[in-house]
Amino acid sequence: MNSTDPMVIVGGGQCGARAAHALRENGWDGAIILLGDEGRLPYERPPLSKAVLLGERTAEQCEVYDDAFYRGQRIDLRAGAAAASIDRAAHKVVLADGACVAYHRLLIATGAQLRRLDVPGCELPGVHMLRSAADAQAIAGDLTPGRRIVVIGAGFIGLEIASSAVARGCEVVVLEAAPRALMRAVPEAVAQRLVDKHRSMGVDVRFSVAVERILGDARVTGVELADGATVPCEAIVAGIGVLPRIALAQAAGLDIADGGIAVDETLRTSDPFIYAAGDVSSFPHPLFARRIRLECWKNAEDQARIAARNMLGHAEPCSAVPWFWSDQYDMTIQIAGLPALGATTVARETGAASRVFFALDADGVLVGASGVGRTGEIAKDVRIAQELIARRARITPETLADRAVKLRSLLMEEMS
Ligand SMILES: Cc1cc2nc3c(=O)[nH]c(=O)nc-3n(C[C@H](O)[C@H](O)[C@H](O)COP(=O)(O)OP(=O)(O)OC[C@H]3O[C@@H](n4cnc5c(N)ncnc54)[C@H](O)[C@@H]3O)c2cc1C
Repeated sequence: MNSTDPMVIVGGGQCGARAAHALRENGWDGAIILLGDEGRLPYERPPLSKAVLLGERTAEQCEVYDDAFYRGQRIDLRAGAAAASIDRAAHKVVLADGACVAYHRLLIATGAQLRRLDVPGCELPGVHMLRSAADAQAIAGDLTPGRRIVVIGAGFIGLEIASSAVARGCEVVVLEAAPRALMRAVPEAVAQRLVDKHRSMGVDVRFSVAVERILGDARVTGVELADGATVPCEAIVAGIGVLPRIALAQAAGLDIADGGIAVDETLRTSDPFIYAAGDVSSFPHPLFARRIRLECWKNAEDQARIAARNMLGHAEPCSAVPWFWSDQYDMTIQIAGLPALGATTVARETGAASRVFFALDADGVLVGASGVGRTGEIAKDVRIAQELIARRARITPETLADRAVKLRSLLMEEMS
């Protein structure tokens, strides 16, 4: 290895593309190679379950940068070049076609892959899952007015798909194995508001139901549940979660933690020449004193920038407060911090149909905030909550619930 070798990024997704750009912005003048395996320009996934399914955007309109950008920045984007293995001793990535690419520093940004629905009939035409632009295009083709669509899984992706399918004129049934929606992500009150909204839009949401098999011959015709009941439908979309794509790292002997590639607070793996970022990285968050892995747009943005800087010799910690959003119907959900760590939930009314739920840990420290309602009625409070979480603010439940107390004034107090 020598310093004239390229910076190499495995994973031509949002995080990989942003990291390539950040390397250039931060002064790397040498070669940058971005390896992707989807055969297309890197793109952002959040619109896939929203605007793309609604027919408002094409997959091309979700691209992170256009073709000319990569050329202009001298980023060697190889969109159909899957990395097959990493030769850590020789500092080389071996591609699926056998070619080798030497690296000065390597970033693994391989994202996540779908958790597969493993029941009889899952291979039938009309059974879908959503991760890629190609998946979104196939699902959009099946969302024709009047059709009955079964969504398996009441997580964020499943609920967004349900909302898009309703907007396309479909009849929708959501089947969830757990007793409620969004079990790990948000407090029950937030999940309940969302489910109420779906039901008011005509969605049949069912909890504690197990899918036994998919029915159909040439194409899906329904779902059989564990209790023997059947749900007829013309198409199915399963949204049952993802698994980080760690196979490459694992085969190379890199440390793995909590299902992701283990990195330190600077996003460096157990090999000092290799970094990992985005959905695939498991990193120690200084604020929460624990290792976490995030599957969200903002984390891919933040970690891309930090990984690029640290590949260039900085030692910047990754300490941003997590932030996530979801859009369903006319509602937005915004989440800051880690609400799941809360011992107490406090509701604050921020508009006629909008609420922000704060999560306080056992010591009374603010660890999470989940807003649900109209964007303009929750976004500001969630943003300020993000800063209060970063400061480990202790605020009484009474103060948080009192609409007359401006959150900004609490932040000012913390800062003084
Ligand atoms: C439908 C959908 C909706 C979403 N909505 C939201 C939302 O509303 N809000 C939010 O905050 N987040 C949302 N997300 C999550 C967000 O899109 C992800 O967190 C983000 O895409 C992570 O970026 P990444 O670059 O780490 O991974 P990815 O986007 O998965 O990119 C990784 C890339 O690496 C490629 N790759 C993998 N292995 C190899 C290999 N060996 N060689 C070469 N290339 C390889 C993959 O094919 C992929 O192209 C959504 C995700 C999906 C799927």
